[in-house]
Amino acid sequence: MMQPPPAEPGMREEEVDTPALLLDLDAFEGNLDAMAALLAEHPVKLRAHAKTHKSPVIARLQMERGAIGQCVQKVAEAEVLAWGGIPDVMVTNQVWGARKLARLMALARISRVSVCTDDAAQVAAIEAAAEAAGVRIPVLVEIDVGAARCGVEPGPPAVELAERIAASRHLTFGGLQAYHGSAQHIRAPERRTETIAQAADAARRTVEQLRQRGLDCPVVGGAGTGTFRHEAASGVYTEIQAGSYAFMDADYARNEEAPPFRHALFVLATVMSAAQPHIAVVDAGHKAIPTDSGLPLVWDRPGVSYAGASDEHGKLTVEDPSLRPRLGEKLRLVPGHCDPTVDRFDWYVGVRKGRVESLWPVAARGAMA
Ligand code: PLP
Ligand code: MN
Repeated sequence: MMQPPPAEPGMREEEVDTPALLLDLDAFEGNLDAMAALLAEHPVKLRAHAKTHKSPVIARLQMERGAIGQCVQKVAEAEVLAWGGIPDVMVTNQVWGARKLARLMALARISRVSVCTDDAAQVAAIEAAAEAAGVRIPVLVEIDVGAARCGVEPGPPAVELAERIAASRHLTFGGLQAYHGSAQHIRAPERRTETIAQAADAARRTVEQLRQRGLDCPVVGGAGTGTFRHEAASGVYTEIQAGSYAFMDADYARNEEAPPFRHALFVLATVMSAAQPHIAVVDAGHKAIPTDSGLPLVWDRPGVSYAGASDEHGKLTVEDPSLRPRLGEKLRLVPGHCDPTVDRFDWYVGVRKGRVESLWPVAARGAMA
């Protein structure tokens, strides 16, 4: 059941009910502008990843600043964006199942929809779904550029699959998907550089082999917030798929030479217990703020640490009892990992200079099918 909004426009931040997903609008807009400026130096486009924000409103704000479209991971996310008026949505993932493919093809009537594949049987299934729906969609070949997740080997196996797509009557060959996920949080900058140099080589080699077989490769997509500057400068990648840059979480801040974005996303929490001198307990535990990528940081409160979570409790500790937050105090927490944190909430509470300015639904919350 969708929860009622925790705030109203015009309220002061301290009046927002908690736990709440807070978006600092100045920091957020600054991040969108910073990304647009960084990419303007290179012949690449931004196709921002909506797995992070799950919101047609945020998608539109990104596109107003030059993004050419959006990425999603799931058909259900594609539906929410297309139904929300986003004109170009790419599923950067594998989709299996006739029912899911039929849903995807239905969207092709209202938006430009593209999808990835790494298997000949999947190409046949996508072709059958497109034919049944009477649409024609671009399909990209996903290559494994080192992350060992989805994707065929670069080179001949990718070319073979591309030829199969190009020969399918209701599909066009859309290009290569070449995302290196595990590179994003490599801490040492020189190792990130090396890893993406190898990924770009694999993509470059495959583009060249496609050309030798007479196939033009219109898109090479990939990159996330941790590495996008390398892909953007590679001369091979044409579309950058960063998502987290808009919000900037604590885990990305732990990269050495961290991405140049400000923390814009917070979970606002209230101290609900301060019965012990070194401990304050907030109302945001695992159910409000995932810890898969480390514990949250307590924003702007030196000496106060988020020491551990249970389901509904977040335990803050202080060495100096005079620094302990008071009962009833509201604190901003910087999530370790922004994407699953967003998916815990129904509403973004947009704040500027201490006041609530906007409430946007996390429209694709739970859209995992
Ligand atoms: N592209 C793909 C295929 C992804 O899976 C992801 C995230 O996992 C991204 C882009 C965006 O990465 P980030 O949110 O780290 O910028
Ligand atoms: Mn993520």
